[in-house]
Amino acid sequence: MILENNKEKIKVRFAPSPTGDPHVGGIRTALFNWLLARKEKGQFILRIEDTDQERYQADSVENIKKSLEWLGLNWDEGPYFQSKRTEKYQQAAQELISKEKAYYCFCSKQRLEKLRIRQAENKKPPKYDKHCLKLSPDEIKEKINQGEKYVIRLKIPEKGTTEFKDSIRGRVKFENQVLDDTILLKSDGFPTYHLANVIDDHDMGITHVIRAEEWLPSTPKHILLYQALGFEPPWFAHLPLILGRDNKKLSKRHGSVSILQYKEDGYLPAAILNFLAFLGWNPKTEKEFFSRSELIEAFSLNGVNKSGAIFNLDKLNWLNGYYIRQMDPQELKRVGEPFLKKEFKQIANEKNIDLVKLWEMSADRINTLKEINKLCDFVFEPKDYLPEILIPRKSNKTQAIKNLKLVESKLKDLSEKDFKADYLRDLFLNYIKENNLNTGELLWPFRVALSGKRASPDVFDMSELLGKELVLKKIDMAMDKLNIL
Ligand code: GLU
Repeated sequence: MILENNKEKIKVRFAPSPTGDPHVGGIRTALFNWLLARKEKGQFILRIEDTDQERYQADSVENIKKSLEWLGLNWDEGPYFQSKRTEKYQQAAQELISKEKAYYCFCSKQRLEKLRIRQAENKKPPKYDKHCLKLSPDEIKEKINQGEKYVIRLKIPEKGTTEFKDSIRGRVKFENQVLDDTILLKSDGFPTYHLANVIDDHDMGITHVIRAEEWLPSTPKHILLYQALGFEPPWFAHLPLILGRDNKKLSKRHGSVSILQYKEDGYLPAAILNFLAFLGWNPKTEKEFFSRSELIEAFSLNGVNKSGAIFNLDKLNWLNGYYIRQMDPQELKRVGEPFLKKEFKQIANEKNIDLVKLWEMSADRINTLKEINKLCDFVFEPKDYLPEILIPRKSNKTQAIKNLKLVESKLKDLSEKDFKADYLRDLFLNYIKENNLNTGELLWPFRVALSGKRASPDVFDMSELLGKELVLKKIDMAMDKLNIL
């Protein structure tokens, strides 16, 4: 990629505000920045935009770092904290005042509120009316000397347009008259997002600002700030919105939770990365599964769409299931270990249950690691169930009992050593074939007898895991249940 502004190396940043746990949108932004940095052998920095003291949440920074670490989105510099750079922003605000690109504003909250109400009544967008721009230097001095509270506002030209090129949207143009004289420095001496963001992106040598579409309306103000400060602006790319399946902005209602919640629920980083990459990016091929290195290889801003990306939880589940099935059973057991209920782990230990087998036989039927507990509860605790579910559709009680008896008779004489899934599978499938039986009719009651549920792992895998004694006991219990039905 040729850097359009002739800088040698790409440098991008993820700049979250620590106002809560990172969600899908924020981490998608981090991912796209990280992918570009890794692809172009550039740098990815982490900057915590903590200038809003009121919305600050204590464990947010830790959770941002944990989320990135979990997904392997390593940063090359930082985290930088804006709260530690206040002086820089104050200096910049003063410089803007002296260049007459910014001005002091002493308006009270009450005045601003009145202004807002009047504008709303006249169906005008809220906008500061430049009231304090009319103050003379002496008036300003006096107010400051008297200790009056003030903010510093950006002086937006009343006429003309502000334009910039967005790598995803092309040329974007705003009429200056719609832009508000935004506050740069608040009365508590802290900068607003706009000032701190621009100063930092410049100071930190950011070449590409890749962020969510919601920041697009702020960008002309940033461009004006860059110009006022005499800085060259970076390149901008505004990522498409993430929408629910009803085309509304993504929320909890659509199944979106914090990234760390996905971790807790048993999603794999590989699936989350693959899923997030497709929220707005299109590889322009049919390929759906991308490993981390394939994503780095294939990613480009050219492949990012303008239109909103639909968040589809079913797709995430499907991808996660795919990655679960890609894992080798030993690895799956290792990664899955923390998700197995504590009490189940203890029972597995006491009863010598082979957990590698447990994961192996479950892989086809779970989409998240946590689901193993529900799928395999029968392995660990007695499971009561309705006798009716032992009877396959289009069959009847007598037939089900007959088939369970048949299964029992075939299993009874086997040695423990033969109680292996492959051996049992061969034995039964051959028998079914030779006698021209219906597979489902024979194996359904057998499978339900072992699991106590309609959906469960493969019957032969379960038989091996449970062992001969328990299998025969469960079959007996099933027959008892049917007999009293
Ligand atoms: N602090 C902003 C946020 O939380 C960053 C926006 C930007 O990347 O400029 O999203």
